[in-house]
Amino acid sequence: MRSSFRLIRIFGIDIKIHVTFFLFLLFFYAMMGPKGIALILGIFLCVTIHELCHSLAALHFGIKVKKITLLPIGGVASMSEIPKNPFQELVISLAGPASNILILMIFYYPLRAFLGENNFIYPLMAITGRARFTGQFSIIAYVYWLNLVLAVFNLLPAFPMDGGRVVRALLSYRMGHRKATKVAVKLGHIFALIFAYIGIVHGHIFLLIIAVFVYTSASSEALQVDVSEAIKDHFVKDVLGRGYQALRPDDPLGKVLELMLHTHQEDYPVMKDSLMVGFVTKRAFIEGLHTRGKEAVVSGIMRTDIPAINVNTALHEVRDLMQKYNTRSMPVEKKGIIAGVVTIEDIDRVYVTDKERM
Ligand SMILES: [Zn+2]
Repeated sequence: MRSSFRLIRIFGIDIKIHVTFFLFLLFFYAMMGPKGIALILGIFLCVTIHELCHSLAALHFGIKVKKITLLPIGGVASMSEIPKNPFQELVISLAGPASNILILMIFYYPLRAFLGENNFIYPLMAITGRARFTGQFSIIAYVYWLNLVLAVFNLLPAFPMDGGRVVRALLSYRMGHRKATKVAVKLGHIFALIFAYIGIVHGHIFLLIIAVFVYTSASSEALQVDVSEAIKDHFVKDVLGRGYQALRPDDPLGKVLELMLHTHQEDYPVMKDSLMVGFVTKRAFIEGLHTRGKEAVVSGIMRTDIPAINVNTALHEVRDLMQKYNTRSMPVEKKGIIAGVVTIEDIDRVYVTDKERM
């Protein structure tokens, strides 16, 4: 089952809605009737505007935005990359909360006049338990003030929330991307623990969900930055092992299996008259062995779409290429001659040794 559905497409960005949203809608309908539906739709409209503004800022800097997914706890804009340039990250992060502040400013006087002073500020007074609400447009006031909550909450320095990204961008100017991320992630973890504590003590389930989300996404982004930075100055030739085995197009899969057991190589260039005609990945081999059996030949299962990369290619480029060709390994060439195979594990090893050095 699909977990989210496309609602509309704006500026080439798919706005998707997560299925849990419908449960949310039902829940609020049961609690508050039609007003509950209006409240949720209002909230989602504001969240969408917030995410759309992040996305427009990203598009302005040439960063592609694939989709915006609306979840019950807020929205997520999926960008093709996280901006490494601090200024871009600063602008993109601030654009979301800025849209909510803009909504607050634009509608302040019109709504106050329309709803009347008391009804307008009712949601604020309700927190302190002083005012009583009488008007029938309560939902509008609630949705209006929700923008204040969205702006303030998102600006908390709880990385990877907007405020946390602002902190990282500002720190990046002084200490570089990697260190700044480390500090921001620590802040994110501290805030996640505070959210979790408040969530548990006061029984706010949403705060608890947000706590888990902030904690795990801060960690995963830290790892991503660590790996990228670690491999930044390394090239294929730095990790390429000495010697390699190659196959011939008419080799049976049984021979490949034997080769795999005796050498530790799992992916093989397929050569014909010293020219590479294909590449056998471990995955293609296992699939081939399963569906065709040991007698089948290499030429039937080899991939011909994976090009050989040069020994002087930077490792981060190799990682991108592996993603593009959906493979965990690639053949390597040096001066036009096949020189070996590089795997994702070889790249990961650079990260591990780099970490040990730090
Ligand atoms: Zn945001």
